[in-house]
Amino acid sequence: MEECLFCKIIKGEIPSTKVYEDDKVLCFKDINPEAPVHVIVIPKKHISSLNDLTVNDEEVIGHIYTVIRKITKELGIADSGYRVVSNCNEDGGQTVPHVHFHVLGGKKLRISVV
Ligand code: AMP
Ligand code: ZN
Repeated sequence: MEECLFCKIIKGEIPSTKVYEDDKVLCFKDINPEAPVHVIVIPKKHISSLNDLTVNDEEVIGHIYTVIRKITKELGIADSGYRVVSNCNEDGGQTVPHVHFHVLGGKKLRISVV
């Protein structure tokens, strides 16, 4: 059994503010938002990092972008615009070892890589 933080959120062992959920994907508000809208989108299957994706994960990763289109419309940031970020491992700034996509919007974001 995987016991990472996001798996615990999926199991309901750690509370979260859910934005969207289906059988494959969960979206919840980031606990430390860096923009007026900051949502974390995760596959329900535990995948440690982008490096661990396989061809079998292509469907869920594609589905995640369909979900992102849906939630950004519902959150009112689709037309104004938003950023999707996924950090990988230490140099990428990944702190939770479960593949996730940050969806950030609600303000004009600076161009930054750090
Ligand atoms: P990363 O640094 O790319 O691994 O992103 C991990 C994100 O998870 C950070 O933006 C954290 O603020 C967020 N985070 C950590 N713990 C929680 C939590 N319990 N609920 C919601 N978001 C969290
Ligand atoms: Zn996990």
